[in-house]
Amino acid sequence: MGLLKLFIVFITTLLLINPAIAASFKLTNKLIPGAAVFLQVSGFPAGSKMSGDINKRTFPINKNGLAMIALDMEHKEGYVTVRVKIAPKNGRKETISRKIWVPAREYKKEYITLPKKKVDLGKRDLSKARKETKAIKATYKLRNGRTGYLEEFRQVLDGRFSGVFGSRRILNGKSKRPHNGVDIAAPKGTPIITTAPGEVALVGKDYFFTGNTIVVHHGDGVVSLYAHMDSMLVEKGEWVPAGTVIGLVGMTGRATGPHLHWGTLVRGARVDPMMMPGIRKH
Ligand SMILES: [Zn+2]
Repeated sequence: MGLLKLFIVFITTLLLINPAIAASFKLTNKLIPGAAVFLQVSGFPAGSKMSGDINKRTFPINKNGLAMIALDMEHKEGYVTVRVKIAPKNGRKETISRKIWVPAREYKKEYITLPKKKVDLGKRDLSKARKETKAIKATYKLRNGRTGYLEEFRQVLDGRFSGVFGSRRILNGKSKRPHNGVDIAAPKGTPIITTAPGEVALVGKDYFFTGNTIVVHHGDGVVSLYAHMDSMLVEKGEWVPAGTVIGLVGMTGRATGPHLHWGTLVRGARVDPMMMPGIRKH
């Protein structure tokens, strides 16, 4: 056997014993606080099982190598580690790890004045509001393996943007938490559609802060929230395909005029609904 032939046999044997994966991943947009991006893995063997983590929080990856990842709106500037784990049917498991620089995000300041009783809550209102917040937050923990969130998102209502995402709210002179959604003002009764397909996870009647409130779970911990609605037209547990009218604009709860408060969360990370894939313009 010639030396070259021997070499080829040697290399082939090595590859058979230990087949290397030439997988990699890319993000559809820059990773910034408060915005969801798609992560696409390529070069993996068909049938591989995959998952990943960002900042040590795990995320699922579908069989085509697609995932949605996000950092919370208040995430601080610094390096973030994104890891993708690939377990092929045959062969060695592999982890791709990448450090990504995440800049800080600046938000606007917004001054609001509200009646004192809507800000300094009495004992009964406070306990009611706490229970409602707990019910809403419970939906952030839902996981069901459905992937409505891997389809394009849509703007849920046309109207005037009366509140921007992330603004630092100074309420009656006191600094409050940043605005975790967008506000769209529209006449009472204007139809609101679901931003993406999903399952109705919560139908909350007359919540203290958010009024008539709906949460839709788009799968794997990606949810959207709709608040202050006049009426709600879907039921808990119902599957809502893209474009389904779920309710009508109102001013229930703590609202100064008819508008929709619309929020989106990716496994608990508060993200800008207007920057969801399919909606964002940049
Ligand atoms: Zn709002």
